[in-house]
Amino acid sequence: MVRMPMTVKPIDDLSDALYSAYPELVAVHDLAAGRPVYLVGGAVRDLLLGHGRADIDLVIEGNAAALATRLGGEVVEHERFATAKAQLGEHEVDIAAARAETYPRPGDLPEVEPTAGIADDLARRDFTINAMAIPLQRDPELIDPHRGREDLEAGLLRVLHSRSFEDDPTRALRAARYGARFGFELEPETAALIRAADLGAVSADRRRAELLRLAAEPEAARGFELLGEWGLVDLRAEGVALAARVAELLASPPWQGVAPRDRALLAAALGPPGGEEDLVAAHPQKPSLAVEMADRREPVELVLARALGAEWLDRYLLGWRQVALEIGGEDLLAAGVRQGPAIGRGLKEALIRKLDGEISGREQELRVAVEAARWAAP
Ligand code: ATP
Repeated sequence: MVRMPMTVKPIDDLSDALYSAYPELVAVHDLAAGRPVYLVGGAVRDLLLGHGRADIDLVIEGNAAALATRLGGEVVEHERFATAKAQLGEHEVDIAAARAETYPRPGDLPEVEPTAGIADDLARRDFTINAMAIPLQRDPELIDPHRGREDLEAGLLRVLHSRSFEDDPTRALRAARYGARFGFELEPETAALIRAADLGAVSADRRRAELLRLAAEPEAARGFELLGEWGLVDLRAEGVALAARVAELLASPPWQGVAPRDRALLAAALGPPGGEEDLVAAHPQKPSLAVEMADRREPVELVLARALGAEWLDRYLLGWRQVALEIGGEDLLAAGVRQGPAIGRGLKEALIRKLDGEISGREQELRVAVEAARWAAP
């Protein structure tokens, strides 16, 4: 498929674009106590792309918590990384002190050195398109030491230096996220570097967290396809098509909301296959057998099985799953059945017969349940 990268809107007046998208940033100007403060990362990129609002990330050459406090709202401080969160109007803002990072061992979290300059802070970032800043104290201008704007215009993802994926291999997963979202390509040197990235150097938790962020993208299936092309993950057979199918199913009733979209897409693309194959192979002849099979399955397995062709699951979801008895345990007790496992057996038998259309109404349910309970009683 030929994909058209998004295009960059030429912005005549950066200040106008900035403050109409983020009017509340005007306040930051006065509250930074003379310290240089910048809008950075995704918000700058998306502003140039002419997209709507993004999450606000600020970098201050000074104390992040102090700025957060002055901005008001609830302040959450993270001392190790010298970061804080604050509420600005209706929006949450992430604030970080400008810092440089070094990576003692590939894949580890970085050692952080607070530094004075925005230049160091931009130099630690993943791709040029995410390594731009706009100062909020003076006339807004684009600070773009790595020529991110050019790459944005060309639709290219480019790392800032050749050790980037060694320092942090999760950037390779981020590349798939941006590649899928924007239809961007890897710049040739970055393409060569990404193929040598080693996701094994990252903890399973971090890897999964980034994969789930990819899976949450509207174009997640394309992102998984890219990871496969780059040789970074083993896709399950037909995994890309299956992920697309799962995304489609979960987008409308009756499957909408049945399973978390990100987990379902991740399982569709990468596996491991769970019990869904059994559900596809099964052609339960009776509703009670269908319920027996499907009730104990995880929602993700159900969606995957449906996407793989188990159409009978529609009937389970829309009808059989909802079938309930009109009677309960207390009715059996009142009918003289003794407290104990026999009650559960009796109710189960009545539900099976009801599902299969053999009985209906309270009276018949009670008769079947009492009879089955008596048989089950020791
Ligand atoms: P999104 O639009 O998906 O929120 P974002 O660009 O805002 O994307 P975040 O994960 O919120 O992404 O990160 C904010 C910024 O922090 C990025 O734009 C990038 O500059 C930087 N960043 C995040 N993760 C990394 C990383 N692993 N390595 C280097 N820089 C990173």
